[in-house]
Amino acid sequence: MKRLLIGTNLKMYKGIAETIAYLSELITLTSALKNDLELFVIPSYTSLDRSHQITCDSHIRLGAQNMYPALEGQFTGEISPRMLKEVGVSIIEIGHSERRHVLGENDQFLNKKVLTAVEQNFTALLCVGETAEQKSFGISDEILKIQLAIGLKDIKPEQLNQVWIAYEPVWAIGVGGVPADPDYVELRHQTIQNKIREMFGPIQIPVLYGGSVNPSNAEGLLSRRFVDGLFVGRAAWEAKKFTKLINQILPIWKGKNEHE
Ligand code: PEP
Repeated sequence: MKRLLIGTNLKMYKGIAETIAYLSELITLTSALKNDLELFVIPSYTSLDRSHQITCDSHIRLGAQNMYPALEGQFTGEISPRMLKEVGVSIIEIGHSERRHVLGENDQFLNKKVLTAVEQNFTALLCVGETAEQKSFGISDEILKIQLAIGLKDIKPEQLNQVWIAYEPVWAIGVGGVPADPDYVELRHQTIQNKIREMFGPIQIPVLYGGSVNPSNAEGLLSRRFVDGLFVGRAAWEAKKFTKLINQILPIWKGKNEHE
């Protein structure tokens, strides 16, 4: 049985003490589920070192919210893969919509990050998604294909098992976001899988859905074809609520995999 791939990005929330309290509780609450889960948490940079100390012997994988694509250099304010390795990170989130649309990162720059992340033996979690305006023009699939064509350029076939994709429509994310309709999500995930096949042949990369996932829509989203897991924001930031959500959707995941 494939394990359920699910995780959260804490964004610029929770300081060190809060992150440690959150992780400790999450480790305890989800320990009985560990054989069914591939669970990851992506805290702030300043919490990573302490987070590693308590997650290193647990079932939770640790991610970083960003990374500069160079091992070292004159890049004031940036964090290198080497530094992230030192603090036990194994997943690098790349191209979250806030990095693309608030911090202005483009596909070419994100491609450098993906290449560096996999070369440095991390799992690269590349986020893609269209804006509300792009959706209104009916070009969502075109945008996703462009983001994948550039974002995954020059990845070697043997590195593909280090790549995860998160489909996160920009209009669905965060406070004020509108959760995407499951029919719509299934079509976009299919587009993503088709594009990956077109680029690399008949392989499958895990594609997570993210954007206002909550207890009332998680089952409907996860049950859809081509949805391989969930990337959860606000609904995961209390350990008890996150565990409840996981318990709620695990039967759906198991049922789906039995029939695949
Ligand atoms: C996100 O920002 O990646 C996200 C999924 O957030 P939320 O679930 O809060 O919309």
